[in-house]
Amino acid sequence: MRRSREKPVEEKCGISGCNDPGERSMSHKKVKDVLGKNITTDEKRVQLCKAHYREFQKATKVERKLEALRR
Ligand SMILES: [Zn+2]
Repeated sequence: MRRSREKPVEEKCGISGCNDPGERSMSHKKVKDVLGKNITTDEKRVQLCKAHYREFQKATKVERKLEALRR
């Protein structure tokens, strides 16, 4: 009985139109606020693939920078 060698369920990236495997799970609301993309799930947590996670990180970094500049 060794059917699945790795994770039993492969979670996909929750961004609409993206079929890459999920790397990290992020809060649904945050992803929507930051990336402004359609999300294919209603779950509270959304899986992000590597590329989208990087995009998310970049976006939040920019946001933080802008906040710092405003002071
Ligand atoms: Zn993705």
